[in-house]
Amino acid sequence: MKRIILDMDGVIVDWMRGIHKAMGWNYVPENETSWTFYKNHGVTIKDLEEKCSHGFWCRLPWMPDGVEIFNLLEALYGKENIYLVSHQLTPTNFGGTSGKQSWVLKEIGSDYINRLFVTTASKSIFACDKDCILVDDRPENCDEFIAAGGSAILVPAYHNKNRDWCNQRVDFIEERLKYGIK
Ligand SMILES: [Mg+2]
Repeated sequence: MKRIILDMDGVIVDWMRGIHKAMGWNYVPENETSWTFYKNHGVTIKDLEEKCSHGFWCRLPWMPDGVEIFNLLEALYGKENIYLVSHQLTPTNFGGTSGKQSWVLKEIGSDYINRLFVTTASKSIFACDKDCILVDDRPENCDEFIAAGGSAILVPAYHNKNRDWCNQRVDFIEERLKYGIK
């Protein structure tokens, strides 16, 4: 039985668009090639955290292809085998936990609220075996997950090495799930 560990921000939830809007910055996805994009605006992660309240998190939009990615995973593995695992922005961003819970209830439904983990721990704690597949846009998360014995798909993003596939993310994920994960 395969089990999907699904990241939220950058995979199904458009945090980058949301934080740019909250900070009053223009957002051009293809220009955001670094995790530390906010430093270019002269601010710190603490400054971002101040904007990331419960209300901020629960009102974030889906990624443009987020629903399609989510539906693909449900169709392939069934909702009972999908777990949402999301990192908190910072250890003290408590609005992130309740805000993400509200987002899941509002956008996906109560079926998923018992399979949502908002954590500051490494996602690798969920890597039980090769049938445990992390779907995540952060390279470090994927590397740790594989090192711990699981499988991982690095979802294309402009800040990672799979950026050339950003306009075909659903196909990219489906191919790797169906024909093997490299
Ligand atoms: Mg992410």
